[in-house]
Amino acid sequence: MRTNFHTHTQRCLHAFGDEEDYVIEAVKRNVEQLGFSDHAPFPDKDFGLRMQFAELGDYLDTIGRLNEKYSNIQLFKGLEIEYHPVYDDYYRQLFDVYKLDYLILGEHMYTMPDGDIKNIYFAQSTKDYLDYAKGICDGIKTGLFNIIAHPDLMFMNKFAWDDNCKRASEMIIESAEKYNIVLEFNANGYRRGKVIYPDGERYQYPDVRFWNMVRDTNIRVIIGSDCHEPHQVFDEKVEFAYKTASSLGLNVIETIF
Ligand SMILES: [Zn+2]
Ligand SMILES: [Zn+2]
Repeated sequence: MRTNFHTHTQRCLHAFGDEEDYVIEAVKRNVEQLGFSDHAPFPDKDFGLRMQFAELGDYLDTIGRLNEKYSNIQLFKGLEIEYHPVYDDYYRQLFDVYKLDYLILGEHMYTMPDGDIKNIYFAQSTKDYLDYAKGICDGIKTGLFNIIAHPDLMFMNKFAWDDNCKRASEMIIESAEKYNIVLEFNANGYRRGKVIYPDGERYQYPDVRFWNMVRDTNIRVIIGSDCHEPHQVFDEKVEFAYKTASSLGLNVIETIF
């Protein structure tokens, strides 16, 4: 069965197309389950390049309406969101009040032990990966998230692989295993192309070194398109991600429902 649970829309201000554009494209490509996971707003803080809080209701209503309109595809209501411990009640509300089907933990910004918020796109050294991994592990522990998006996103930074990289990977993998959470193998990394790093040329992510560590576990892995344009919903990068993940020997699943 063809599925995709990592889908953005123009509401996040850096993707193109509305909900229906993605549904039409997904139907055309024989996708049977499509989950929307646009970048979530926080009620009282704008981290930028994400949906406005005032749009949340309309976003969810639209998905519900399209689910009625298109009988040959199943739609799901989700969001991609960072984990910040101060918002624990908000995450719960998203399920209880807003009736979300699932939440993807997409850690870009992360909370430091002192409450400071950092952005992994601007890591100063691989030491920062340990704090980043801790943020993800704290999120996993809450049981509020169904999928961890691009758990190897940190490796887009321009550092060579070292012990911190290995340790940060172990932290995420160990807690994913312990809490039986799904890790996402993200096709959008392939759209970004290869980059030259101090220790060689590779994709920013998925990083094979991380996924080789996942292979030794029974963690479930899902392929995410992370599409920001409708035609990417199930494109050749998604197909390439499926091929790569299965050739790496990962435990690939198709659906979380
Ligand atoms: Zn995005
Ligand atoms: Zn995303």
